[in-house]
Amino acid sequence: MCDCIEKTEQSFKEHLKKNDSKFKDIEDLDVGFENKAWLIDSGKMALTLPININWVHVTKTGRMMAKTKQQSFTMEYCPFCGEKQSKESVVNE
Ligand SMILES: [Zn+2]
Repeated sequence: MCDCIEKTEQSFKEHLKKNDSKFKDIEDLDVGFENKAWLIDSGKMALTLPININWVHVTKTGRMMAKTKQQSFTMEYCPFCGEKQSKESVVNE
């Protein structure tokens, strides 16, 4: 399995330190994608794509309440190089 996520995070961090004066001298600059998950079968990180579920819940008394829930799909293929990431996609709650 590829390590494009880690490589991209590292190269973007280096880019920021080199090209943006506000980050140049910061030693502990942390740069990372927001939506990541560890894949158990490979022990590597994969990006996830959040999906929002929105609905109106009607209570027993007839009151309507807006509800929302978010789940995530793990990318089956690397978005950078196209390599297959895991045996099957995983849905995370
Ligand atoms: Zn890749």
